[in-house]
Amino acid sequence: MNTTIATGARVELRDVRIDYDDGPAAEIDLVVEPGEVVILLGPSGCGKSTILRALAGLQPIAAGAARVDGDPHDHPDTKCAMVFQEDALLPWRTARRNVEFALAMRGVLRKRRRAIATGLLDQVGLTGFAEHLPRRLSGGMRQRVQLARTLAAEPRVLLMDEPFGALDAQTRLEMQQLLVSVWLRHRTTILFVTHDVDEALLLGDRVVVLTSRPARAARIVEVARPRRPGAQLEPEFAGQRQEILALLGHSPDLPQS
Ligand code: ADP
Repeated sequence: MNTTIATGARVELRDVRIDYDDGPAAEIDLVVEPGEVVILLGPSGCGKSTILRALAGLQPIAAGAARVDGDPHDHPDTKCAMVFQEDALLPWRTARRNVEFALAMRGVLRKRRRAIATGLLDQVGLTGFAEHLPRRLSGGMRQRVQLARTLAAEPRVLLMDEPFGALDAQTRLEMQQLLVSVWLRHRTTILFVTHDVDEALLLGDRVVVLTSRPARAARIVEVARPRRPGAQLEPEFAGQRQEILALLGHSPDLPQS
């Protein structure tokens, strides 16, 4: 039987305000339930990454509180893992040894690391590529290794900052599908930043549409599962897509890149 364990944590942002020197960057009140996928959607520069960085403990909170499973969360720890767009692999280590590095950091015994790393690389579709150095892998494959390495740390919350933004359209679709399958297996809580409406509707249980700086929730749209690529164009989701595009100030009739 295919069992899944709910490993995701509950994330709370209670009346959180994040400031830069020139004023408030974000003001947000949001609770993300264990295993939920919440998308932070908004135009470039609106404050999406700022919110994510605050949750990762990388950005001080000026007011309010961030909590993970009820515990104050104001410094980086292993509960929350950040996944960036840019490639953060160690270039001199093979795919497998990049994943093993994360296992070592978690204190997994050396003799167990190889099997776990190989299993994680299988999960992200990289069977047969474990011994490749990053430079011998495509951009999409490197993102797969990054995901495997992140999963090796067994985070309870994944904080993903436009992780597929640098990939071509086809690879991006493949990575979105991969993330769905990884989520189905691990049920990690995910906060995912994007400015792509279609990506938001494909991946999210809820889409938080943010105003421009300071980032505030203009509207929270609930999206029904299950979904598959292209479903956002079907009648059930098309209304939500148009509503979100209108909130972002786009003409709903124009296709989004
Ligand atoms: P987004 O992720 O939505 O593109 P960011 O959260 O990166 O936006 O940035 C929000 C705003 O804050 C932008 O106007 C950006 O220029 C500004 N900003 C980002 N980081 C800093 C910083 N360290 N100091 C001052 N301003 C910043």
